[in-house]
Amino acid sequence: MRTLEQQSDVSRRDILKTLGGLAGAATLPEARLFGQNTGSANPRRIDVHHHHRPPSSGRGGEGRGGAPWTPERSLEQMDKYGIAVALVSLTQQADLLYDGTEEGRTFARSVNDYGAKMTHDYPKRFGLLACLPLPQVDASLKEIEYALDTLDADGIGVYTSIGDKYLGDPALAPVFEELNRRKAKIFIHPIPPKCCHDLVPGISDYATELDFDMTRTVTSLLVNGTLVRHRDLTFICAHSGGTLPVLAGRIRDRFPKDKMEMAPLGVIPELQRLYFEVAHAAFPYPLTALMKFVPSRQIMFGTDYPAEPIESTVVPLEAAGLSKEALYDINRGTAERLFPRFKV
Ligand SMILES: [Zn+2]
Repeated sequence: MRTLEQQSDVSRRDILKTLGGLAGAATLPEARLFGQNTGSANPRRIDVHHHHRPPSSGRGGEGRGGAPWTPERSLEQMDKYGIAVALVSLTQQADLLYDGTEEGRTFARSVNDYGAKMTHDYPKRFGLLACLPLPQVDASLKEIEYALDTLDADGIGVYTSIGDKYLGDPALAPVFEELNRRKAKIFIHPIPPKCCHDLVPGISDYATELDFDMTRTVTSLLVNGTLVRHRDLTFICAHSGGTLPVLAGRIRDRFPKDKMEMAPLGVIPELQRLYFEVAHAAFPYPLTALMKFVPSRQIMFGTDYPAEPIESTVVPLEAAGLSKEALYDINRGTAERLFPRFKV
């Protein structure tokens, strides 16, 4: 196991190489970046941010009004872009999943059963990040047991916020305690937060609020002690961590002095224990910030398909001029270490 200092050395080496490439990429017009070839050798990527659309979700097509989604449509896209494995999770449906009723519990079960069928039908191509009917704690504990013991899910997917609550909320403590006992991998996916709809008329919440909600929930996990109490949990933050890498220094400087026991390594090193994926956030600007923040050994590939076209991640990632080692880590190396059943 490498120390944080050793990891920072790796990080610095990666950054120097990365910045060399990114500096060039940053001067290219965006249209040209997106027009580049997506590469030749098959990188056998592992996509940790990929959505299924179970019939019970009532959601249908790709993107906005595209072709109907099916597991086979995912496989076709995965083959096209050199993606060997996709770990599927539920797209943004907090209204139904987190409604606090029997309906939410039934929905969670149907979504997880559907995902498990995909992993059963295509065991080498799909993994499952099961959903939980939060904020219902007892029902979520039952679903954790069912998903991890009966369905053999690879991990758990949660949204950044549950109504007014963020993930560090003390009411959710039993859920994280149980997930920690099981050394679970937890994928944190953003949703438009309840607090902040339509703050700026004319700009979609999806353009700005998702990335802020990621930062809110990570600070909630930190300040409430979830990160320090549960050292066996692995959190994976979507979309290059949203605004977290950029705001980390300000979070450190404004962190409450009477809560420093929640960050025994220091605020920044505690945040640098997190993992990240780069779906729709491999543009030069967020990728540079992320790779300054953590080494490539903590960064994974993701696409957000079918909500986003896969090119929107693959093309800027390949144009970023990353070192071969860093690109391998992101494409599959990091995910292979976290989810060893996909190791080849
Ligand atoms: Zn997504």
